This record gives sequence, C-alpha cells and structure tokens, in this order.
Amino acid sequence: MPGFLETDIKYLKGVGDARAKVLASELGVATFRDLLYYFPFRHIDRSRFYSIGELSGSDLPALQIKGRFIKFATEGEGAKKRLVGIFTDGQRMMEIVWFSKITTFSTAYKPGVEYVIFGKPNYFRNAYSMVHPEVEQFDPAKPPTGFRGVYSLTETMRKRGYTTRLLQTLVGNLLSMPGLASVDDTLPADVVRRYSLMPVQEAFRQIHFPENARLLQKAIERFKFEELFYVEAHILRYTMERSAKIPGYLFGRIGEKFNGFYFNVLPFELTGAQKRVLKEIRADMKTGRQMNRLLQGDVGSGKTMVAFMSMLMAVDNGCQSALMAPTEILATQHFETLKQWAEPIGVKVALLTGSTRTAARREIHERLESGEIDIIVGTHALIEDTVRFKCLGLAVIDEQHRFGVAQRARMWRKNTVAPHVLVMTATPIPRTLAMTVYGDLEVSVIDELPPGRKPVTTLLRYDNNRHEVDLLISSQLKDGRQVYIVYPLISENEKLDLKSLEEGYERTCETFPSYKVCFVHGKMKPAAKDHQMDLFVKGEARIMVATTVIEVGVNVPNASVMIIENAERFGLSQLHQLRGRVGRGADQSYCVLMGKMKSGADTKKRLSIMTETTDGFLISEADMKIRGPGDMEGTQQSGLAFSLRVADLARDGQVLTRAREAALAVLRGAPSLLAPGCVVSQQDSGSSFVMKVSENEISVMKSELRVRFVHSVDWSQIS
Ligand code: ADP
Ligand code: MG
Repeated sequence: MPGFLETDIKYLKGVGDARAKVLASELGVATFRDLLYYFPFRHIDRSRFYSIGELSGSDLPALQIKGRFIKFATEGEGAKKRLVGIFTDGQRMMEIVWFSKITTFSTAYKPGVEYVIFGKPNYFRNAYSMVHPEVEQFDPAKPPTGFRGVYSLTETMRKRGYTTRLLQTLVGNLLSMPGLASVDDTLPADVVRRYSLMPVQEAFRQIHFPENARLLQKAIERFKFEELFYVEAHILRYTMERSAKIPGYLFGRIGEKFNGFYFNVLPFELTGAQKRVLKEIRADMKTGRQMNRLLQGDVGSGKTMVAFMSMLMAVDNGCQSALMAPTEILATQHFETLKQWAEPIGVKVALLTGSTRTAARREIHERLESGEIDIIVGTHALIEDTVRFKCLGLAVIDEQHRFGVAQRARMWRKNTVAPHVLVMTATPIPRTLAMTVYGDLEVSVIDELPPGRKPVTTLLRYDNNRHEVDLLISSQLKDGRQVYIVYPLISENEKLDLKSLEEGYERTCETFPSYKVCFVHGKMKPAAKDHQMDLFVKGEARIMVATTVIEVGVNVPNASVMIIENAERFGLSQLHQLRGRVGRGADQSYCVLMGKMKSGADTKKRLSIMTETTDGFLISEADMKIRGPGDMEGTQQSGLAFSLRVADLARDGQVLTRAREAALAVLRGAPSLLAPGCVVSQQDSGSSFVMKVSENEISVMKSELRVRFVHSVDWSQIS
C-alpha cells in the first residue's frame, strides 16, 4: 500500500483518468505529493483591505487597498514619461504609477470617489508604490474573495480549459482530505523546533491558501529551508564520507626545494594573502587526507606562484605534480614561467599538449612513468590514458570553469592514492554558490593584489565618443603598448543590431593603418587561432580584435587597453574577466565599455558598477542578483547544476546559512535523525520531492565520485 503522498493523482476528487494524464505530462504531477509541492508562483490577496501603514517587507503578494485619489501629475520626458497619482487610505499616502495610456488614466478616476486598488506593492526608498494596479469603484456589497495562489499552466492546458481556478479547487480538495494528517514532517523534529519552522502540514495549507501574508512568508521560508537543508546535507555528507575514507598523500616535510626556492629564487615578496593560502594548503597536505581545494583569486593576484610553491611541497615529498590549463597558449605560458622558477633549484618541468610531436610525447610519457619529470604542464593531453605517473601527488587545474567535471575527474584515476587537488579560478564565486555548487571543496581566497598594481581605469562610452576612444588607442599604441578590441559577434547579423568582429577588423585596419592587427574567434581552427594569438603575444601584432575567446588566461603584460563593444551584451563577471586581460604590467591601463546610447537606465546602472569597482566579489554578487544563479559561469560549467524550486541562491543567503548549519548539526549528531525519504540516507525512496530536487545532482555526483575515487571508495557505502 503506497502512503498517502504516493497516491496516484487520478484518485483525487475532481481528477480522474483523463485529467491525471494531463497533469502528469504537462506539470509532472503524478501523485498527491507532487500536487502539494506544485507551489503557486505568486499569490493574490483579496482576503481583506490593507492599510498602507501596515505594509512591510519587500516581497509582498498582490493585495488590495481601499481609498481615494488626491491628485495626478505627469513626470519625466520621452520614454520615461509617466503618470503619478497620489492615493490615500485616509491615514497614509502612496504613489500609483502608469507608464502607458497616460491621458486615459489621468482623467479616469474622480477625486472623492472611493476605489479599491489591487496590485503588487513595490518597495523603494522607504516607500511603497504600485504600478498599473487594477482599479475599481468600491462596492460594499461585493464579498472578499480570499487569499489564493496563482499556478503556472502550460499552453496546452490552457487550450484544454484548465485554469488557475481549477488547480485551486484540486489543491483545496487535497488539503481537506483526512489522510493529510498522517503525513510526516520531511524535516527532523529537532530542526523544525530549533529553527522555528512551520510544520509541513501547516505549511502546505499556508502556501496554497494563506491566511495572511505573514503565515505565507513562514510557509515559503520553511520550504526554502527544507530544500536547502537537503542540498547541504547531501553535500556535507559526501564531504564527510570522503574526508573519512579517502586517504591522500601525507606531505610531512617542507624540504630542500621549497626552501631553496623561497630563500634564493623567489623574485618578489609574497603577498600576505599568498602566504596565508600556502599555509592553508600546507595544512591540508599534512593531514593524510586528500585535499580538494578551490583557490579563488582575481586576475593578476598571483595564483600561479601559489600553485608552483604547492607543487614544490609535493616534489620535496617525492611526488610529481601536474598543472592543467584549458588552452595550449595558456599551458605554454605556464610552462615558460614555471621553467624559469624551477631550473635554478634543479626541478624538472615538461610541457605536454595536443601539438607535442609523437616522438617527444613518447619520451615525456616515459620520463613521467620513471619519475624523472617533477612537474608536467599541459592541456587536455594530460588526461589521456597513455599518460601515467610514477606518483602523482598534486593536480592543479587552472581556470577550472573551462573544464567539465568529468575531465577533471579523469586526472584522479592516475593513482591508487587520490592526488591532492587544487582548482584555481579567477571567476569569483559568491558565497552562496560556493556553499552549494562547490560545497564539496574547501575554499581559499587571495584577496590582495601584489603591490604596485594600478587599478584599471574603466570608462563607459557611447558611439558618439568614438573619436575620443580612437585617440586613447592611438596614444597608447604610440607609447608602444598593445590593444584588445572585443566584439559580441563574429559576423554581421541582420536581426541583431550589434557590432561584429569582421566589420570591426576592417574599421580597425583603416583607422590604425601603421599597426598590424590580428584576430581570433571561436570558429577558427586551433592552429590558425594559435598563430594569431602568437602574433599578439610576441608583440608583432599590436591590436587584437577578438570575441570572448580571449577571456581566459592570456597574459600579455604589455597590453594596456581593452575596448569592449556592445558591452551591454555581456554579464558583469564576463566583463570583469575581459578587463583582467589588461593592467598586468606596472603602467596605467584602460578598459572602455562601449555602451548603447539608447539602452535603459538598468543597463547603464549595471555597466556603471564596472566603472565603480574592480572588486571581483562585489561584481559577481551584483551579477548574480541581476542574472540569477542559474546563469553564473560556475553553475553551468561545474556540471553540478541542480535546480532549486523554491529557494533562490541570489536572495536566500541567510536561509542557506541556517540550513547548512542545521544539516551539519544533524550529520554530526546522528544521521539517523534525518527524516524518512531523505536523499542523504536513502537512494530509492520513490518520487519524493526531496528526491526530485536532488536527483540531478546525485546522479552527477555519483558519476563523478565513481571516476574520481574508483580505487579507494567502496561506493555502496556512499549511495
Ligand atoms: P593570476 O592569479 O591571474 O593567475 P599570475 O599568477 O599570472 O596571476 O600573476 C600575475 C603576475 O604577478 C605575474 O607576473 C606574477 O609573476 C606576478 N606576481 C605574483 N605574485 C607576486 C607578488 N607577490 N609580488 C609581485 N608580483 C607578483
Ligand atoms: Mg592565471
């Protein structure tokens, strides 16, 4: 006998066979549980009249207020022209705003008449307002219709006559069934109590048919907590299992190479942040457990040196290290840098990429297996099965977001003991993302740039400033510097009014005829791309026009200008990455964002964040608030992306922190406290909501785990 929640939806009053099919195929609602968890995407509160003074909080449902209009006035010009009405409930006043049909609305409502306005209050600068509310004359005979959820329906359903009303009725039928009383809370009772969460049965009622706004908030918060609790519990459980079970190399001593380098070769003083991070890494390597660390540091913060010195720790303990980079150019640059540092202390570095010749490749393979090479730098070529190590002690992965999870994992197979892993990224990850998507990694941050760097001067300019921008470019070229110009498109596109690389290349050649211009974009053959890149790296070409393929890693300290065309098309984090390509030398550098004159205030405000700060963390937080976490680089490429149904990583940082704390407490205390159906302890608990949230994530984690620790983990213990 399935439990109440697992009951087939067709047995619900008002459903039956035909509707059950539609609900399942269109909404994924197949059981009672699915319907209970099919939450409204917004609410309308027609249960009573609100007073303006009692409104509080910023995320209110649409609600109604009774009162009178005092006056109307038009404000602003052109596209920003709007009608503002002052509305009062007799005590307080609020602004009602219309952006269209201004003439109609300005005369539609009579002073003195009592109206009911209905809409979602916006909270801005300590005041509430409403935009285009529904307005009708107050009718004392009309009864209030209640506080209801609005459900999203598919087009197909609408065509077949399904309405939000129908869903309300079905959910209402379900909520009035006596069986609901037998439903267990999905969270441990302790957690519900300690965090003052609304119990699940009550929360189901309040989220579908709220009694009032406060209880609705409590219900929503409870489901957010529940969702994040299980995500965190899962990640933490996995991390704990791993740290308990996965042995790593024990690097007990700091030896000859590390000290020799530190005292005799290191060309500069390490920054405080670099020292701190090295200590964190050192501490990890002394535990005898495998290190999994994410190293975040803005472009130019000196991650390579940290990586190199960590590698020396491995060398001093008789192990080899690998540094994997996403592109051939980047790998080559790393190789040159590391070789310079390593040679004086007698540490052997080699380079292995896709273009390494067969004979040389074979030789490198042999020297890796014999242990003669201490440090291997390379691209994807490193993860081929033919590459074997004598003893791989540390794998460093640079700019990890270009590597898929699976590729990362293949490095791990190289040993019976899992190598320590250091993942380096210049894309700062907001804390909430770090705690979820990268929850299994420890995080180190280099939050300090080497001394003497001048922050890149960032300017926002428009087409009518083009002459000024050209002057900046030519003055920098005359000083011997190099310039990047980035375009959103390769070729012209009739549908999109955007600048393209092809057209830009022509214009650039014409405008700066005495300088060589090179170009790269994503559709070029790798060899052609490398050739063009090379021209720029060597300084033969002074201007590079490119698409965003140059975003990652290229290091040309002589480049001092970055022009980004149609900057409004790029995310803030991406702009930050692009800007990081300049300002790598000691001289003043410039980043010019070419905006669109016609773009809205929002876009201009977004771009102006770039002119105000060079702090990558501030920028990524702002970016996540604007675009939502799903679009962030980290989430998509990490392969661990899971979809949250209720919680929003951009906004629910506090709930997340509490949920994580609760999950940790529960796991530390007694995992058995976890409620039945919990993904952490049970894999096959049917179609529970909790399962749905995490299914995706679990399967990814599972496959990742399998490859990662194929030698050392008894998988059955984890799933
Ligand atoms: P990223 O973190 O972007 O990978 P890099 O490792 O390429 O940064 O470092 C940028 C530049 O700064 C390199 O030329 C590097 O040698 C230099 N650098 C690194 N650490 C320091 C330091 N502590 N003092 C001065 N220069 C440094
Ligand atoms: Mg780097």
